[in-house]
Amino acid sequence: MAVDPLIELRDVNKHFGTLHVLRDITLTVGRGEVVVVIGPSGSGKSTLCRTINRLETIESGHIVIDGKPLPEEGKGLAQLRAEVGMVFQSFNLFAHKTVLANVSLAQMKVRGRKKDEADRRSRELLERVGLAGQADKLPAQLSGGQQQRVAIARALAMDPKALLFDEPTSALDPEMINEVLEVMRQLARDGMTMVVVTHEMGFARSAANRVVFMADGRVVEDRTPEDFFTAPESDRAKDFLSKIL
Ligand code: ADP
Ligand code: MG
Repeated sequence: MAVDPLIELRDVNKHFGTLHVLRDITLTVGRGEVVVVIGPSGSGKSTLCRTINRLETIESGHIVIDGKPLPEEGKGLAQLRAEVGMVFQSFNLFAHKTVLANVSLAQMKVRGRKKDEADRRSRELLERVGLAGQADKLPAQLSGGQQQRVAIARALAMDPKALLFDEPTSALDPEMINEVLEVMRQLARDGMTMVVVTHEMGFARSAANRVVFMADGRVVEDRTPEDFFTAPESDRAKDFLSKIL
């Protein structure tokens, strides 16, 4: 596939103290691609997401987003985090703000929208994630699956070029996982560029263009889901799949 690269990492290295958590990571995510990242706990998946959003610094290598190097700080950084949104396992909503305010606040602060305009956009997005009618509630009045969909609406409200998901369904009760995955599948169908760390192999098979398997801070395999799930090449991937499938 001829990819139009949106996210590019080249030879990225990162340590936490003496722990080498990202080792020579080279990875390209094309515009409109869905890349699912899987691998054992501690393999560096979250750190990888966080470096793309510059929630973590790197020691060597290059990260380029839509043709531009990752900004170091300041305004460029806020812009980057709007353009490359992140959805976390733990939702991270403001507990004392309504659902509507949670989705509108950053639009006003980062995108400079007036309240009316931001609220209008928020309501559209809440409808898109199946939460029309929940706008005036507080997060705690919603289920976990609903809260995660608010977090997705909030990220979408920035008009991002790409979204990073770090185990978005891991904190959810089983019956709520699918409603969140369905919103993500719809985003994928609409052409959103997505990097998704998940243990949901059904999602990886059905929605991913590529599966990236990480172990010990390295990208060990980077292939289509068909190839990866039917014929993993590395012993690490075979071992991992034998434990989870
Ligand atoms: P994964 O998401 O694949 O489980 P992480 O990226 O969270 O892996 O972590 C990779 C390794 O880095 C783990 O050994 C973890 O303990 C370590 N680590 C993650 N964050 C920090 C941190 N802020 N300080 C020190 N070590 C960390
Ligand atoms: Mg993690």
